[in-house]
Amino acid sequence: MSRYTGPACKICRRAGTKLLLKGNRCFTPKCAVEPNKRPYPPGRQVQRRHKVSEYGLQLQEKQKVKYIYGVLERQFRKHLDAAKRRPGAAGENLLQLLESRLDNVIFRLGFAESRRQARQLIRHGHFSVNGKKTDIPSYIVKPGDVIAIRENSRETEYFKALQQEIPHKSAPTWLSLDPITLSGRVLSAPTRSDIDASIQEHLIIEYYSR
Ligand code: SF4
Repeated sequence: MSRYTGPACKICRRAGTKLLLKGNRCFTPKCAVEPNKRPYPPGRQVQRRHKVSEYGLQLQEKQKVKYIYGVLERQFRKHLDAAKRRPGAAGENLLQLLESRLDNVIFRLGFAESRRQARQLIRHGHFSVNGKKTDIPSYIVKPGDVIAIRENSRETEYFKALQQEIPHKSAPTWLSLDPITLSGRVLSAPTRSDIDASIQEHLIIEYYSR
């Protein structure tokens, strides 16, 4: 399955919730799922309410999480397999793995406006993990890892501007952000309470258990 390249806001409207796919715009009144906007999914025929089947709900939840983290089906399944091999609840493990992806961590640290932009910056080789250049967005970080903007990249216009903005940003409790050195440290693995509470991970596990 190829990556969706259509309008990101359509995905949020279909899911009926903010998936934060467009960076700063998501926090402005321009957001397409603000209360004063069209309260129905995209498409001409869908203004009528349909009863969604159990399978439909499971599928929707799986798609929603894939879009939030920008992961394609094959990679999503890989994360799911890894989650099942870990001790504990597979659904929580899956979310913990997705949250620990390097592209998500770059986004959470405020080094990118969206996960999509974070992936692009990572692929262009702007970051290091523990001092080593890392250009793989799906890299899973571990407690103790230090993520930094590489020396040469600091001279680019984007990162020079970021240096001015970063003191006004904050990181989640499982990460620490050092605005002076433009680096972040993983303090602990993310817990369920650090992750979007609206996700119903049990529906995803049920979807793949069929
Ligand atoms: Fe979703 Fe962001 Fe578009 Fe709002 S602005 S609909 S949160 S992608």
